[in-house]
Amino acid sequence: MHLPQSLRLNRGSYLGETIDITRVLAQIDHTASRHGWTRRPILEHPPTTISAFRRGHGNTQKRIYLSAGIHGDEPAGPLAVLELLAQNTWPSEIEFWLIPCLNPSGFAANTRANSAGRDLNRDYRQPTSPEVQAHIELLESLPDFDLTICLHEDWEAKGFYLYELDATDSSSAAEAIIEAVTTVCPIDPSTKIDGRRASDGIIRPEIDPATRAEWPEAFYLFQHKSRLSYTLEAPSDFALSVRVQALVAAVRALLDSAVRD
Ligand SMILES: [Zn+2]
Repeated sequence: MHLPQSLRLNRGSYLGETIDITRVLAQIDHTASRHGWTRRPILEHPPTTISAFRRGHGNTQKRIYLSAGIHGDEPAGPLAVLELLAQNTWPSEIEFWLIPCLNPSGFAANTRANSAGRDLNRDYRQPTSPEVQAHIELLESLPDFDLTICLHEDWEAKGFYLYELDATDSSSAAEAIIEAVTTVCPIDPSTKIDGRRASDGIIRPEIDPATRAEWPEAFYLFQHKSRLSYTLEAPSDFALSVRVQALVAAVRALLDSAVRD
């Protein structure tokens, strides 16, 4: 099998393709409404408009949350959401909550942080940004989730990898995700990623939020909304289409395992 190669473009930050987030979000809006999702605005301070989308109804067995675009230099996340919406193969028995882009102003500037310079994915312990404050307000109004998924990219990664936070008794889906992505792009072989121990692209971080001053979204979700959380990281030194397919394959593998459980 012939796997795609790294473009060797990134130096110190993401230097690859960018997207027109306004256009992508309009496409997401259109595709979601065509397939019966309902939209709920979370924050409307133009040009920063954040929306959540919901599919299914309250009396379903399971509830899954998926978010993307919290870092404005990680375009594969919102594009993967668009692709998943277009494929429209969601398990019908599951209720979904979807937030395609948490940091529109960061995308407009192609920066990790929002336009005020705040890394939103470090703002979930004592939120100061309007984006995260509005996001948490929404989350507090929703019931808990059986599974939460956050889509990300890493400009330094040598391949795809994931974080798993799991306090359930069920068997882990991590290996199945890695196996699904293996057919799309390389898996990061590093034994240490971002200072954490990794094995075959899987990081299972020590869970002690008290020791962390700044919380990422996944920490908030794991502490307050769900006992099972995955952060999926596409390697952003590969072609954008490859990273989108990697995230799509990973999400689909996760949904397969959620249906089986
Ligand atoms: Zn990220």
